[in-house]
Amino acid sequence: MQKFKISTEVCFGKDSLLALGDINANNAVIFTDAFLTKTGVAANIAGYMKNCKNIKTYSDIKPDPPVELIADALRFLLDADADVVVALGGGSSIDAAKSTVLIARKQTGKDIPLIAVPTTSGTGSEVTSFAVITDRQAGVKYPLVSDSLLPKTAILAGELVASVPPQITSDTGFDVLTHALEAYISTAANDFSDAMAEKSLELAFEFLPRAFKNGNDEIAREKMHTASCLAGMAFNAVSLGVNHGIAHSFGAHFHIPHGRANGMLLPHVMWYNAGLDGQGLEPTMSRLAKIARLIGLPAYNAKAGAQNLVNKLKTMQRELSVPQTLKDCNVTKEAYEGVKAHIIQSALNDACTVTNPRKLNEKDIENILVNVAKF
Ligand code: NAD
Repeated sequence: MQKFKISTEVCFGKDSLLALGDINANNAVIFTDAFLTKTGVAANIAGYMKNCKNIKTYSDIKPDPPVELIADALRFLLDADADVVVALGGGSSIDAAKSTVLIARKQTGKDIPLIAVPTTSGTGSEVTSFAVITDRQAGVKYPLVSDSLLPKTAILAGELVASVPPQITSDTGFDVLTHALEAYISTAANDFSDAMAEKSLELAFEFLPRAFKNGNDEIAREKMHTASCLAGMAFNAVSLGVNHGIAHSFGAHFHIPHGRANGMLLPHVMWYNAGLDGQGLEPTMSRLAKIARLIGLPAYNAKAGAQNLVNKLKTMQRELSVPQTLKDCNVTKEAYEGVKAHIIQSALNDACTVTNPRKLNEKDIENILVNVAKF
């Protein structure tokens, strides 16, 4: 038996922020980062929370939240005696809030609902049972996995993404493409996750270039927010693949933003998974060809379709300024060589790699890495 469950309520479209008025609480805490506090976005969100008596804001979330930050955020949450938390920001703010709330619930015995308001269109964290925490010393990003990490409500307000600069739009947009493609070819993929992944890909291939070119394109921003959430629903059900396995390690060792690491690897991992090295691996090759057809690329047979999709990803990489190599991300040869063995092992051991459609060994990961390890 398989199951497909979506328990988070998703509010989207015009006026979706009004849903914040439905929160009734004595003590509410907004979890966010310095940028969204400084620019007044957090205060604006607090303004919508009309039925909360006291609202405090924790604004110290950093990208790729480290373990130490969770301890600090937990103290803040307990001191505030929070009975609801609003996570406002990108995946880092949402994941930090999810992890902190999980521990706070255990310590206080209180329910503490979590409302997620994403301000990037990338991680889909607003609807996933994952939270990624970084152990910088060990050079590892840990995905925590539990249904209790699922936010009660996700509010998709496209207007909050308008301020995202082009480079972060590109990074997070490639995260969406990676989530949807890895979910689509996951060994656990099913008809329900396919429906979410296909729609997500259709939207992302059309609207990501538009959002990148013009951040104020309201339709593109709204559609990318939807694409990100749909991809989150898809991978939450059927997991991901080795692209994420390697990207997690790049993030932990070199602090490359998550979506950028995914985007840099994506065409190479899809090429490998389809068996375009001459293996011609089915059903992955045909599934990638199906996506090629869906987005209007020629696919007169499975191989041509999969190859055209890989080429399309490469073209988009260039058009959206995705770095092609680790060198482009300011990683030196020495730094890479020093941790290469660890990256390979981490990628093999990463929980996401389990559902990769092509089984890998150390040499296979090394062969994928060759494409980006150019100095
Ligand atoms: P992020 O949250 O780290 O934010 C990146 C930068 O964008 C930050 O500097 C932030 O201040 C800025 N930013 C956010 N919103 C903005 C806005 N509206 N305008 C201008 N700047 C804005 O980036 P992300 O890609 O959203 O999240 C990445 C994190 O999420 C990583 O730690 C990754 O591992 C994790 N992740 C989690 C899941 C999950 O299911 N939980 C899935 C994928 C990735």
